[in-house]
Amino acid sequence: MAQRPLVAGNWKMNGLTTSVGQLEKIISGAERLQNADLMVCPPATLVANFAAVARGTRVAIGAQDCHAQASGAFTGDISAEMLKDAGAVAVIVGHSERRKYHGETDAAVRAKALAAHRAGLIAIVCVGETRNERDAGRARTVVGTQLDGSLPDHAADLLIAYEPVWAIGTGLTPTPADAAAMHRFIRERLDGRYGGAGEGIRVLYGGSVNPGNSAELLAVANVDGTLVGGASLKADEFLAIAGFYR
Ligand code: PEP
Repeated sequence: MAQRPLVAGNWKMNGLTTSVGQLEKIISGAERLQNADLMVCPPATLVANFAAVARGTRVAIGAQDCHAQASGAFTGDISAEMLKDAGAVAVIVGHSERRKYHGETDAAVRAKALAAHRAGLIAIVCVGETRNERDAGRARTVVGTQLDGSLPDHAADLLIAYEPVWAIGTGLTPTPADAAAMHRFIRERLDGRYGGAGEGIRVLYGGSVNPGNSAELLAVANVDGTLVGGASLKADEFLAIAGFYR
């Protein structure tokens, strides 16, 4: 089943209140791009501000992480309920930078995805293999294990982002054939896990997508959009990538 594509920007730990101009540019550019959904995931400090600016427009606002609990003595953490209250509609969970720098396990990622659903947010679950794992021929095993351990119970309000770790921020990307093979594999796993309910889950590709390579990557079968890091910080580049779906 062909999905309506989503182009989402992960701003990571970038952006100040002065960055709202980039969001405003994306909002006005989005009017020309009726064939894709657009989302910007700024740092938590900007979620409420950006959500207010984007309210009623074609650009949704997401967040980059959440705690598994709704509230409590977790200094410095932010719950899915708080993100929802701030105006987010989605939250990325299990990004490889969270898995690497914060030691997040598949079980922790699954708990966060469940928290997102509890709060009424879309969960964007990230998976992806390292270079060593791919070179050892283990990419599918690793991604399959991540899916098994990280996915929430329900297929509704769920997206997957396949982001090979070696492609994030490196300028490297998989060949279209390798991307197609992994996206087909993920689609099959989702069908196995959720049955027919899994058909509506969009599987995004992420990792060094830019205006120069986006057409090739977004044309790959079973790629239902993209999660963009670095190139999403500049409205012109983000809109050029989304322009594939014009
Ligand atoms: C990401 O971190 O989600 C990402 C895709 O980063 P980049 O586009 O910069 O590789």
